[in-house]
Amino acid sequence: MTKSIFVAICLFVFFCICTVSAQKKRCFTDEHYAKQILKDPSFEHNRLLKEAEISRILNGQKNKNSVSVTIPVVFHIVHNGDAVGVRENIADARVLAALDQLNDDYSRMNSDVGNTPAAFASLAGSTDIQFCLASVDENGNPTTGINRVNINTLSNVNQADCWEPDYISDRIVSPLIWDRDMYMNIFSLLNIDYVEDGECMKNSLLGFAQFPGGPANSDAAVHAYYTIGSLTMPNPSGEVYGFGRTVTHEVGHWLGLDHPWGPGFGGCNMDDSVADTPNAFEPTYGCPNFPLTDDCTSAGSGLMFMNYMDYVDDQCMNMFSQGQSNRMMASISAFRPNLLNGGCGANDCPETLTTTSNTISSGIYLASRKVSSDGLVSSNSDVRLTAKECVAMDVGFEVQNGGRLTVDVVGCN
Ligand SMILES: [Zn+2]
Repeated sequence: MTKSIFVAICLFVFFCICTVSAQKKRCFTDEHYAKQILKDPSFEHNRLLKEAEISRILNGQKNKNSVSVTIPVVFHIVHNGDAVGVRENIADARVLAALDQLNDDYSRMNSDVGNTPAAFASLAGSTDIQFCLASVDENGNPTTGINRVNINTLSNVNQADCWEPDYISDRIVSPLIWDRDMYMNIFSLLNIDYVEDGECMKNSLLGFAQFPGGPANSDAAVHAYYTIGSLTMPNPSGEVYGFGRTVTHEVGHWLGLDHPWGPGFGGCNMDDSVADTPNAFEPTYGCPNFPLTDDCTSAGSGLMFMNYMDYVDDQCMNMFSQGQSNRMMASISAFRPNLLNGGCGANDCPETLTTTSNTISSGIYLASRKVSSDGLVSSNSDVRLTAKECVAMDVGFEVQNGGRLTVDVVGCN
């Protein structure tokens, strides 16, 4: 291959990658909400009524119902028949990775916490909200919390159709959603589209969510499959959006957060009703250097563009503010109080992953409710144990030769 052809190919590939990234809209929650309240004005009325209650909670006039909450999650993986682990039919391990990222981000245990500029670090907040995969379904049967659905089993759904948010809500979310008073419903789809000037923009949207207070049959956070991942297990199809932060962002909407520039695009006269997030004129994209200012925030530390509710690349966002954290918790009390009694079945560990030969391989363990060992268990490399309910390790459990042991305990009292 000649050098000039090689350079031309590189430029073409570079152009394509940049173009694909640039064409994606990060979030359609505001646009979706605007259409929803036209059809159902009670949604907006309900939000305004609850806003007063949220203010009372935030002002301390009404106590929060709980100091912490663990929300059961069901991941609906909508696929077109690909094998599990292939493309849109994402593997269980990747779902677990996205859940880990969500928990890390909401507890400010994210590995990139050090990237928060010093000027904003004191404003950063850790929520009292965690998430676990549901272990019991709506009918009381055991579940992995991962619901795989072939689109061929859904009526009136075709891959060639324009999968804009209304279509998705009516034809995919509505027939599949689990009771929103008991679960947070996360959807992973082949693609999400939107309509602009009468034209369907195929596969051009990363996600959207429904704000609290809306219809029960569409109360979900919806994502393109290639955004499901984490910092440690990025989705290779997601490019700069493959690190799981779309889920963190959309769940923020589902818990009542607006974008930093406020609902809609009202310029400097609108904000997100959160005092410690600087006002912003519009979204920030890419990965700018700090500080960055605009007409609304023209001096000092400038924009908090690294906030999860902005539009920067996944690896450039790393914080909620304390005000946002307080608001999400107040939103649960006001809109979703049943979730305060949630969890994923603590103190009930009938299924056990037993180790054999006193060795355990490096990897992620996720199929069991309980991981236990009563003897020496060794591994020469990293081991990650994830049990949905309990992890029990007796004396002698260790990882040798420099390997690291990571244990995820979700919903275990
Ligand atoms: Zn958004």
